Amino acid sequence: MAGLVLLIVLAIAVAVTPLVAIPLAVAGQAASTAVTEYSPPDLPVAKGEWGYPLAGSYSTGRGFGYHPVKGCAYCPSDHLGYDMDQPCGVTVYAAGPGEVINAGSMPGWGNTVRIDHGGGVVTLYGHMAWDSLRVDVGEHVVAGTPLGAEGSTGKSTGCHLHYEVQFDGVAIDPEPFMAARGLPLR
Ligand SMILES: [Zn+2]
Repeated sequence: MAGLVLLIVLAIAVAVTPLVAIPLAVAGQAASTAVTEYSPPDLPVAKGEWGYPLAGSYSTGRGFGYHPVKGCAYCPSDHLGYDMDQPCGVTVYAAGPGEVINAGSMPGWGNTVRIDHGGGVVTLYGHMAWDSLRVDVGEHVVAGTPLGAEGSTGKSTGCHLHYEVQFDGVAIDPEPFMAARGLPLR
């Protein structure tokens, strides 16, 4: 009797399996092909309390202290930040927790946000698009808080983010600063 039941169960299983498997396979294929458009990540990668100021991949411009354009009318002799760019208008994010101490126009930097992180550390986000700022002075932010949109305001020739890190009022190289937080710039 037990053998007969097993046979019947096996027979049903064999008969049903293709019917079940085919719709599942079709459904799986439909689900995987439905996402055809590239959608950038909503938030930048964060490690602990710090994260990148842009989400997803970006191009790099001038690094700290690097000034390849000789005789450039607007370039500072030493570049005090790290330039990174995505298309105009993408969201610029706070890199770490702190208080907004500037949200508006600054000479050279254009539309700029500065964040005081305590311990003498300030980050600066320059050249943002006019009327794009989403934070006010005095506001507390965390890594990933949207600050505004990438632009080309101030002394800039094209859309990019000028990301600067200051320690006790002096600009320091953002690359080792971010690398020490598990966030290597590239
Ligand atoms: Zn710059």
